[in-house]
Amino acid sequence: MDLFEYQARDMFEKYGVPVLQGLTADTPEEAEVAAAKIGGTVVVKAQVKTGGRGKAGGVKVVHNPAEAREAASKILGLDIKGHVVKRVMIAEGAKIAKEFYFSVLLDRSNRTFLSLCSVEGGMEIEQLAEERPEALAKVPVDAVTGIDLAKALEIAKAGGFDDEMAAKVAPVFVKLYDVFVKEDTTLVEVNPLVLTEDGQILALDGKVSLDDNAEFRHPERESMERDQLDPLEAKAKAMDLNYVKLDGEVGIIGNGAGLVMSTLDVVAYAGEKHGGVRPANFLDIGGGASAEVMAAGLDVILNDPQVKSVFVNVFGGITACDAVANGIVGALETLGDKATKPLVVRLDGNNVVEGRRILADRNHPLVTVVETMDEAADKAAELANR
Ligand code: GDP
Ligand code: MN
Repeated sequence: MDLFEYQARDMFEKYGVPVLQGLTADTPEEAEVAAAKIGGTVVVKAQVKTGGRGKAGGVKVVHNPAEAREAASKILGLDIKGHVVKRVMIAEGAKIAKEFYFSVLLDRSNRTFLSLCSVEGGMEIEQLAEERPEALAKVPVDAVTGIDLAKALEIAKAGGFDDEMAAKVAPVFVKLYDVFVKEDTTLVEVNPLVLTEDGQILALDGKVSLDDNAEFRHPERESMERDQLDPLEAKAKAMDLNYVKLDGEVGIIGNGAGLVMSTLDVVAYAGEKHGGVRPANFLDIGGGASAEVMAAGLDVILNDPQVKSVFVNVFGGITACDAVANGIVGALETLGDKATKPLVVRLDGNNVVEGRRILADRNHPLVTVVETMDEAADKAAELANR
């Protein structure tokens, strides 16, 4: 999960990273009050999880509470790259002398941590990386030794800082690395890290991505403001299903992530011959494929108004095809009138003959059993295009 800037700011503060005061506001009136509390020049900043807010008009420097209210009323409701602004942060204003860039992240392809650093910050880092790659240092960081002061100095020098400035920013890099490790993140980015006119180093913007796999170590995150999940994804999550909503018409249920991925491919391919229909979701019900899990999965998929047909693609393994077939029959009984869309079922693997027999005996009007994956994909796409 990515954090909002104000959440990253609060986290930085906890670790002693130098930041300025910041208060959130959800209305122009609240923004005015916050600006009055902070006093003097403040910056009104859109809280959306995307970069380039500055360029999009989502960051405004103002000089009094009335102006803060005015700026907030313009920024709230603004659409920044598809993210509608619902909250702003009112931050104490800084007098910026120079803007720098620093980040540390998990570099999956090289199986290490990586720090990026440049004495030329402020602008979008992708742009810097493209236009002047030599200005952006990429320094691998050993996960065992991490970023101590010596390593921080090495990173700063590689990023183009002179000795005097490197000595100033290096202790901040050490603290940011502390955030990176102790908070179980995969990215901590500060752009800009600034030098103020009176010689202070400050983190003026923060991007933090949390490693969701470490959530169990952070019960305090339970109460954090989260992204709005798609309602179907929220429902699936509540039922512990591995579901991702997509934009097509053919609902997909399978067992095993690899099988489901291939199913998406064959359905997309088959869809080309049937009006361009596409997979509506990813849903892996895992090895068990019991009646309850099957019912929960079908329930989620049938609740997607875009879905016109469903393709159930199961390869019987430890859970044999007869158990899966009973699961499908049981699920349809459980759902009753809620099951309204045609189901194409392809079963193969352990006990397939018995599995198909169970479905044939039940002879449910919505169910078509098809032998191969390609034929089943074709049938499901055809039904979705009717
Ligand atoms: P982003 O565009 O989404 O990355 O948002 P930032 O928080 O990085 O803000 C964009 C730019 O606004 C920064 O690079 C600064 O130039 C400017 N800015 C942000 N905070 C302040 C501030 O306190 N004072 C001044 N003068 N400028 C600021
Ligand atoms: Mn920024």
